[in-house]
Amino acid sequence: MTTVTRFAPSPTGYLHLGHAYSALFAADAAADQGGRFVLRLEDIDQARCRPEFEHQIYDDLAWLGLNWGPSVRRQSDHFADYQDALDQLDEMALLYPCFCTRKDIQAEIAASGGAPHGPDGPLYPGTCRDLSPDVTASRIAVGEAYALRINMAAAVACAGPLSWYDREAGTITAKPERFGDVVLARKDTPTSYHLAVTWDDHVQGITLVTRGQDLFAATDVHRLLQSLLNLNVPDYHHHRLLTDDDGERYAKRNRSVTLKSLRDAGKTPGDIRTMVSL
Ligand code: GLU
Repeated sequence: MTTVTRFAPSPTGYLHLGHAYSALFAADAAADQGGRFVLRLEDIDQARCRPEFEHQIYDDLAWLGLNWGPSVRRQSDHFADYQDALDQLDEMALLYPCFCTRKDIQAEIAASGGAPHGPDGPLYPGTCRDLSPDVTASRIAVGEAYALRINMAAAVACAGPLSWYDREAGTITAKPERFGDVVLARKDTPTSYHLAVTWDDHVQGITLVTRGQDLFAATDVHRLLQSLLNLNVPDYHHHRLLTDDDGERYAKRNRSVTLKSLRDAGKTPGDIRTMVSL
């Protein structure tokens, strides 16, 4: 099987050294196996994405010497696909509309004296999980905004025990229940990161997902969605995260380490490889 890897940035800012590491890591992993490397733009958050950043991504990656083939998958072109996936989960009775605002959730958690913490923070307390179909329908009919959440306990029961393989950490038993009822779509963003990334890795034929350690736990949720939606299960390689001299992770706000500024300052692609120790 041909190895296919991907780099999946969001065009919400300039790429920095952390992105360069991730992109080169993915491209090298494909090249080592005589495979292919593809590009995906994770632009579901349309309010924060800008064409200028998208163009700069192409420019920076080409400058680094990467070749991602003839096409790029832009998530915002595929909202209908994610809707199909949501429809499938809905038919399995695994989704429910949640009308809670962030404030409602905080108030509910405070009122019940706290909530268990998952990898992404306090778990959703389940306020809307058991609303009657009539109440739900009438709230939607009057135009109340809602998110679609997965009923995690039901989904886990439906999928049964799951595991996935990380090239560094080995076989991992998936425990998606640690995340609680995660949001899979919102009114203004008709898919979530979890749903779009899992669906797209399948559609793009990715066989090896390489990405930062910060997404290690999220893979449990992706593995669950793969099982429920009958999608391919790639291998994973969660790589280290680059940090600056103070031990802080690089972020888009660190202007000094954007590829654009390093290039403007005369650095070469070879210098970048050295800077990220590849
Ligand atoms: N778009 C994500 C990011 O910019 C990467 C998602 C992934 O690799 O799964 O961090």
